[in-house]
Amino acid sequence: MTVYRNLIGGEWRDGVHVPNINPSNLDEVVGEAAYATAADVHDAVAAARTAFKSWSLTTPLERSDLLNRIADAILARRDELGRLISTEQGKILSEGLGEATRASQVFRYFAGEALRAGGERFDSLRPGIDVAVTREPIGVVGLITPWNFPLAIPAWKMAPALAYGNTVVLKPAELTPASAHALVEIVIGCGVPEGVVNLVMGEGRTVGDALLHAQDVAGISFTGSVGTGRIAAVACAERGARIQAEMGGKNGIVVLEDANYDAALTAAVNGAFFATGQRCTASSRIIVQDSLHDRFVEDLKARMLALKIGPALDAASQIGPIVDERQMAQNLRYLDIGRSEGATVTGGGVLERATRGHYFAPALFTDTTPDMRINQEEIFGPLASVIRVADYDEALAVLNGTRFGLSSCIFTNSLAKARHFQRHAETGMVMVNLSCAGTDFHAPFGGRKASNYGPREQGGHARDFYTVLKTAYVA
Ligand code: ADP
Repeated sequence: MTVYRNLIGGEWRDGVHVPNINPSNLDEVVGEAAYATAADVHDAVAAARTAFKSWSLTTPLERSDLLNRIADAILARRDELGRLISTEQGKILSEGLGEATRASQVFRYFAGEALRAGGERFDSLRPGIDVAVTREPIGVVGLITPWNFPLAIPAWKMAPALAYGNTVVLKPAELTPASAHALVEIVIGCGVPEGVVNLVMGEGRTVGDALLHAQDVAGISFTGSVGTGRIAAVACAERGARIQAEMGGKNGIVVLEDANYDAALTAAVNGAFFATGQRCTASSRIIVQDSLHDRFVEDLKARMLALKIGPALDAASQIGPIVDERQMAQNLRYLDIGRSEGATVTGGGVLERATRGHYFAPALFTDTTPDMRINQEEIFGPLASVIRVADYDEALAVLNGTRFGLSSCIFTNSLAKARHFQRHAETGMVMVNLSCAGTDFHAPFGGRKASNYGPREQGGHARDFYTVLKTAYVA
């Protein structure tokens, strides 16, 4: 049995073993994660603190070279990593492979960014004095990551952390320790010095909590639920640490009567159901103009019912299983909530396949109103609602009528409406004639309202979180 151990100051440390189950086949144990203790977290932070002294003084070129080697190593193991992601998380293989590629690209991008940390210079108001503004790393950063992108999210936090000279303690989600472990193994294999990257596995409320409260952690980069993100923000505020938190979404796709119909239909199906609906950029609210509503709903149902749900590694599968029994129960609960609120439900329910797994039929709610719980709460599964609207103005009001604000998209051929939407959608990311999901790694990623707290991730703006400014006056 493969055991994933914690990495603390260059040493692999054991802990209580907890099985990592394949959601496509509950009879298959992928490996065992060695759960860390609060004392292990303390040691990991201390090791990262010690390593910071020399790592923060390395040259940008040393860090850039290292990140390039990591990008190469991830790419060289892409097939194996893609299979591992799909096996422990349940996304289909093409999505697992895509995620592995993305992780490599992110390291490559930040290998370049390490050389471009830059700075500013001013002429002082006083004669004979230079003013120089430089960026320095913040120190030890704690990375708390979710299970839906088990390799890419740790990568897009770790790569900028290292690029700018910080040291890292990574706490991956309970459900996906193997991908994070593989990443750390690769990073260490590429020559990251002892203590620069540490890995602690285990439960959020013990291991994650210890990391949030560790005095020597200068910043926490968190991705997960709103509830936990808020806990993390409070813990960081109390001890004066930085926090960057990306949380949930209830993204909407707006389809107007002048849209390219087929493109909108494909985006609605993909955005709602692909990646099993388990991504924060999924579009679970399909806001459709009255004049094409009925036809759109019929086509949507037909496309949804034709989707092939099966094991992640089966080439015929378009949608993999739900990640675990807790999410499965939540999906089933929301089917009931939708029915009790008066929505019409198509699809949904548990499916049997050749292996015992968490297979769930995608579901579409129709005849819904914007204030229903199914249209306000993040379900995080392959369930979506259609909301009928009279016109663009109502569509925009419905879109903005939730507490979330991650991503949004509109399908229209009207430049005026597209431009208005781009300005007035209260979301961190807005797409025109494109699905809500699908972002580039060199542009900032993040939401507004309850979906986000703190500065942006990804792209050049990542350095705002991972560096601190210093203003020097030199006579
Ligand atoms: P989800 O509900 O999708 O699992 P969470 O926000 O609970 O999302 O999990 C995201 C990450 O936060 C995981 O790594 C999890 O272990 C961690 N986590 C959960 N609860 C806490 C907590 N109280 N303190 C710190 N980390 C936590």
